[in-house]
Amino acid sequence: MNKNKIIIIGGGISGLATAWLLRSKALAAEKELQIVLLEKEVQSGGKIKSIKTDGYTCEWGPNGFLDSKPQTLDLCRAIGVDNNLHRSNDNARKRFIYSGGELHQLPDGAPAFLKSRLISWPGKMRLALEPTPFIASAPAGVDETLADFGRRRLGGEALDKLIAPMVSGIFAGDPETMSLISCFPRIAELEREYGGLIRAMIRLAKKKKQDIAAGKVVSSAAGPGGVLTSFREGIQYLSDALTTSLGGIVQPGSEVTSVQKIDSSVYSVRCSDGRIFEADQVIVASPAFAAAEMLAGVDDEISGTLRQIPYASMTVICFGYSRERITHSLDGFGYLIPKKEGRNTLGTLWDSSMFENRAPEGKVLLRSMMGGACFPEYVKLSDGEVTSRVMQDLKLTMGIDAEPEFVRIFRHPQAIPQYTVGHGKRLQKLDELLKAHPGLILTGNSYRGIGLNDCVAAAERAAEEAMACN
Ligand SMILES: Cc1cc2nc3c(=O)[nH]c(=O)nc-3n(C[C@H](O)[C@H](O)[C@H](O)COP(=O)(O)OP(=O)(O)OC[C@H]3O[C@@H](n4cnc5c(N)ncnc54)[C@H](O)[C@@H]3O)c2cc1C
Repeated sequence: MNKNKIIIIGGGISGLATAWLLRSKALAAEKELQIVLLEKEVQSGGKIKSIKTDGYTCEWGPNGFLDSKPQTLDLCRAIGVDNNLHRSNDNARKRFIYSGGELHQLPDGAPAFLKSRLISWPGKMRLALEPTPFIASAPAGVDETLADFGRRRLGGEALDKLIAPMVSGIFAGDPETMSLISCFPRIAELEREYGGLIRAMIRLAKKKKQDIAAGKVVSSAAGPGGVLTSFREGIQYLSDALTTSLGGIVQPGSEVTSVQKIDSSVYSVRCSDGRIFEADQVIVASPAFAAAEMLAGVDDEISGTLRQIPYASMTVICFGYSRERITHSLDGFGYLIPKKEGRNTLGTLWDSSMFENRAPEGKVLLRSMMGGACFPEYVKLSDGEVTSRVMQDLKLTMGIDAEPEFVRIFRHPQAIPQYTVGHGKRLQKLDELLKAHPGLILTGNSYRGIGLNDCVAAAERAAEEAMACN
């Protein structure tokens, strides 16, 4: 069966990478495909946008990807932009948590952990129980929340001060609702395989040493690891390069309103301006809530299941200052604030410390995050209210008294999909339902990972699946 007309809907990293990978696979297999990518906005890139203004480079969404996984790096190599990669400097390795009135550096080993005042002695003793048989093992067949997992394995204090901030830093999520297996499948796997996280870390560190001694190339042991990587021009350089390389395939300003099935294997895709495209395959790379609307005419149940994937809102606030107005060393990546601290922001990234060219000479750029699943109403705050709340937090956490001389506020009403308990079941159901619609493929950050690396990995799977139908 030759299915050569393919429509991709959505031109974020997921759609762009799918189009690029599909085209290269077709070229390699000497297959002729007609690929069209329909993107609603005039600019492709989706959540990726690097806004240059007054000498600052403000990232609207992601500020890079980790080089510990191969997917985005491989894509950069394939499209020929790997020479322009800009890795964050070593400062970016130091990460902090604000707790009890001060910033604590996240300890990077057992001695530093014992010295750290972030976790109290009773909290440390509770953590020390983690590798022992006193800790209940994972409940069989239960889709456990991240909060339940944290309390069970590490104790309440570690949940509040380590796990919850990490969940808000990555997903802007609430650990009381998020699913361990869907958000961090590797952690669930480590517990199953090694009987605990500390045991896993010890075993993997040992293995890493042995591999290094044997001259093997090794990646980070258990955690995300890696170096935050972007481009001197900002991360938009990547989506721009993909868009340019795809040429006429990308059709910006094309909002898809509906997909219909003409017969068992031909689809029609309608845009808001009245254009209609026929396709043998449709790859939907828009967020789940948008996919739900456009697929209502294809399958009610698919649509309903997609609607059950919730999104958290987020506000990103960029503040620029003259360096001399800030007494803090800004030596690091930035910090996260546990919800229990009762502050306004989720944390602040020291963007110009990670990538020095993000601010003009003699200036610094700080990027704070506000909102997320725990504070959904914050996205509605006025600019004045947002600015004053961020200033309150910066004063408390870093002693910054000065007014910022540069302010940009970006609101994302539907920022990040939330993999809540039941997400895995929803994905299984979608996979089942999609079997009735050959040629219809879902990809993007709504399903199996939200990082840029995850989106590129999902794009690879989508491109493979589309090729398999040809
Ligand atoms: C503030 C923030 C910070 C982040 N930081 C990082 C980070 O540092 N590192 C990292 O790895 N990840 C980060 N992420 C996550 C990452 O940016 C996203 O998961 C990823 O960019 C999503 O890509 P996507 O293509 O799946 O979706 P999107 O980028 O949302 O793209 C979907 C596209 O579909 C289009 N679309 C929607 N409806 C229609 C329609 N009807 N017709 C046609 N097109 C349509 C949209 O316009 C959009 O372009 C961050 C996310 C946010 C919000």
